[in-house]
Amino acid sequence: MSTTIHRPVIILGSGPAGYTAAIYLGRANLSPTLIQGMQPGGQLTVTTEVDNFPGFEEGISGPELMRKMEAQARRFNTDMISDLVTQADLDPARRQGGPFRLTCDSGAVYTCDALIVATGAAARWLGLEAEKRLSGYGVSACATCDGFFYRGQEVAIVGGGDTAVEEALFLTNFASKVFLIHRRDALRAEKVMQERLLAHPKIHPVWNSAVEDILGDPQAGGVSGIRLKNLKTGETPVLAVTGVFVAIGHTPNTALFGDQLDKDATGYLVTKPDSTATNIPGVFAAGDVQDRIFRQATTAVGTGCMAALE
Ligand code: NDP
Repeated sequence: MSTTIHRPVIILGSGPAGYTAAIYLGRANLSPTLIQGMQPGGQLTVTTEVDNFPGFEEGISGPELMRKMEAQARRFNTDMISDLVTQADLDPARRQGGPFRLTCDSGAVYTCDALIVATGAAARWLGLEAEKRLSGYGVSACATCDGFFYRGQEVAIVGGGDTAVEEALFLTNFASKVFLIHRRDALRAEKVMQERLLAHPKIHPVWNSAVEDILGDPQAGGVSGIRLKNLKTGETPVLAVTGVFVAIGHTPNTALFGDQLDKDATGYLVTKPDSTATNIPGVFAAGDVQDRIFRQATTAVGTGCMAALE
């Protein structure tokens, strides 16, 4: 049977919100414990250049920014735990009057008096059977991770937000041609990014189009094409591509909490106005997991700081 380890305050998540909370708690001598989760460093570890994080006038790579944040949190004595929480007992009825209780994948059990939830958000998929079948064989949700493998090849990226545009531009470093598939004829991405995308000779936007299927066989070279449906004309052209990158947004990582914490209609944790307090006293939420609107590293840092101070 595993022993239970009690800590005054535990932070769940290792993105900008989690590390910022750790830095503030550490500097207040509150000995924070941070459980890093499945993807240490969070979403910024799969992004390229971060140009809008203040203090880095020439920009900084996402992984390098997160490495620095982690090092800073460690400098203030954060106990960094490499594990994944698989069960959280937060509701007073489930705790029977005891502290919050977290069970990890390793079997370790932690209890704490205060909890900061900074579990972030995860990439969303189109819901096609082929996405699963061809995942790792030409289908990816991370151009930064996998773009390198497509040197000289033709690829497609799906989506019209900042992620899709940023990743399309990144893919031009390797691919010979990048099709950007978008279901409308206007992009959601920042104007300056749109201009860069539309001016790029390697990028070919395909407007008003949905992905009907991804073609290919994992045993025979992986992805070989993508079948689209033009939502205006009903035509179903096939593009011969060897890579498909899905960049259609994210879902907040809140499944762990079931219905213990209040969520909005889209699954984001609800916090009190001007606060990171959730519906359970002692549980605070920071970063993308509670930010449906801004979802920036800088806003995550802000709410991570708020959670620690609260
Ligand atoms: P967004 O939610 O902003 O965009 C998602 C895109 O995918 C939209 O264009 C949407 O289409 C499309 N989409 C959604 N669902 C589907 C579907 N089922 N089928 C086809 N297309 C679909 O997500 P992002 O990940 O791009 O960005 C998230 C947040 O992060 C934003 O606030 C963004 O500004 C920010 N961000 C900032 C960056 C930066 O500043 N460097 C970099 C990356 C992200 P439609 O437009 O029709 O809704």
